[in-house]
Amino acid sequence: MIKIAIYPGSFDPVTYGHLDIIKRGLQIFDQLTIGVLHNPNKKTLFSTEERMAMLKEVTKDMPAVTVTSFDGLLVNFVRTRQANVIIRGLRAVSDFEYEMQMALMNRKLAENVDTIFLMPAEPYTYLSSSIVKEIVAEGGQATKFVPPQVEEKLRQKFSLTKE
Ligand code: ADP
Repeated sequence: MIKIAIYPGSFDPVTYGHLDIIKRGLQIFDQLTIGVLHNPNKKTLFSTEERMAMLKEVTKDMPAVTVTSFDGLLVNFVRTRQANVIIRGLRAVSDFEYEMQMALMNRKLAENVDTIFLMPAEPYTYLSSSIVKEIVAEGGQATKFVPPQVEEKLRQKFSLTKE
């Protein structure tokens, strides 16, 4: 039986930290479905379509990766994809409390769905989409944090493209 895992998140935008988790996930699972959360109540810099397009672009050489969006309860999305594993990244102790609450709540909602946590390579432990947005908004370099296509999209958003 093929093993499918779901990697959900906002990915606003995708960073090298997310990609590190995706690559680690692919060593454990046959297929990885990235679920881009579409939540009109959560303000994002990029639209769901833009976030998905960037993820598709940076995973185009990974045939075992599928990018799709979802709304509503994560466990319902997991079920519709015929999966029973959720992957989340753990960067620091600060992520832990929230992630544990989510994992246990999701288990209450769907007993056979498990969450597994993967730790990124050390340089990515302090990396988040929010910090990258701040850096680029202030005119800084994000080359070490996001793929070039993503950095370009960030510059366009903040109208920092070179004339
Ligand atoms: P969410 O809004 O669900 O937290 P994110 O896009 O911020 O969405 O993150 C999605 C998942 O990726 C979460 O499990 C998060 O902990 C993980 N993640 C984000 N950045 C990193 C990183 N630099 N290294 C490892 N995991 C990360």
